[in-house]
Amino acid sequence: MSLKKLLKPFKLISIAHKSGVVTVLYPYQKPLITTEFRGKISIDATKCMGCGACVNACPPNALTLSRRDDTIVLNYFIGRCIFCGRCAEVCPVGAITVTHEFELASASTRDLNESLVHRVEKCSGCGGGLGATSRMLQYVILRSPASENYVHLCPNCRKKKLIQSLAMKMGARTEDYEG
Ligand code: SF4
Ligand code: SF4
Repeated sequence: MSLKKLLKPFKLISIAHKSGVVTVLYPYQKPLITTEFRGKISIDATKCMGCGACVNACPPNALTLSRRDDTIVLNYFIGRCIFCGRCAEVCPVGAITVTHEFELASASTRDLNESLVHRVEKCSGCGGGLGATSRMLQYVILRSPASENYVHLCPNCRKKKLIQSLAMKMGARTEDYEG
């Protein structure tokens, strides 16, 4: 064995000696939490619009979106979360914050689930489900004010309204479309 290889352990001991003790006696001592540390996420119920962008970006499917009757439910299962922060990066309205919370152990999986329930809007034409929440509609109108006349309608009613307005422009009478 070469002298260099023989001396390697002593070199490592000297480096470790210079650094001192870095291991803390957790939980008796507090670990170092840096500003970049990523713990569990927090979803702001006053901002979330139920769009599902975070669900599509979540690698381990810790976030899921389910549609039940007239509601959209966003569920966060902490047990699957890998604390990558992708969801916070993609949320269009900044509803997700990565917190420094990391002590998440629990005896019950119920404690590891958080849900947000959104009500689905109804079509102003036929009353059918629109598949979108009122915050989603507001978001679309804010970015495209011209959509205000159509955004509250389902695809079928939107098509009817478009045909009607085209026909009116071509000289059809309003009565033809009433009743
Ligand atoms: S991306 Fe943001 S707004 Fe959309 S469902 Fe997720 S938390 Fe809510
Ligand atoms: S932090 Fe990562 S793993 Fe956890 S919910 Fe967000 S995207 Fe999913």
